[in-house]
Amino acid sequence: MRIVLLGAPGSGKGTQAKKLMADKNIPQVSTGDMLREAVASGTRFGLKAQSIMEAGDLVPDDVVLGIISERLSQPDAADGFILDGFPRTTQQALDLSELLDQLGAPLDAAVLMDVDFDILMKRLTGRRTCSLTGKLLNIHFSSQEELDECLNAGGELIQREDDNEETIANRLEVYRTSTEPLIDYYAKRRKLKTINADGSIDEVYERLLEALG
Ligand code: AMP
Repeated sequence: MRIVLLGAPGSGKGTQAKKLMADKNIPQVSTGDMLREAVASGTRFGLKAQSIMEAGDLVPDDVVLGIISERLSQPDAADGFILDGFPRTTQQALDLSELLDQLGAPLDAAVLMDVDFDILMKRLTGRRTCSLTGKLLNIHFSSQEELDECLNAGGELIQREDDNEETIANRLEVYRTSTEPLIDYYAKRRKLKTINADGSIDEVYERLLEALG
């Protein structure tokens, strides 16, 4: 299974990709995660990416393509992958298509995760990661029990650098202008499936599985 998860920041792509990865035994390929790793490693490239990401802007297409082509040629991606956060521009979608042609591995589907703006804001402003377990939580939606489980074990609820209100507003605007055109792009190529991504993680996951057939 080779799929793209499309959707605004906060639509739940990462959460659903992780569930699908565990279920189907294919890797989640998140350009955001790979870029954050580069930032954490403190390389010159990482430093350049850091300021772009903190502003909520997009890292240049050729840089992201380099990261993706390297990742998709690794053995664990041979049987499929879930692209999370890539492509984000029409150029990236064209680059991906060329890359997959070269690999002889066409895309099965692009799944659009559709969520209302208000919910996106709550998901993004409330998003936290447990410093001990890496578990994704949300101060608005997770149960008190789940939050306490992290805190009582001595963990902290960490907020992502780019999950502050100013950057969130820019990320949503960048999504609207640069990424939303991909909905049409994949619809025209008959690859688009849309799911309602408002609901519990398990409800949305059921819809995702149904959409993938
Ligand atoms: P994400 O974790 O997918 O929300 O990505 C976090 C940030 O990484 C984005 O706001 C961008 O600055 C950068 N980024 C991630 N994926 C891409 C991409 N495909 N193209 C350009 N920039 C990206």
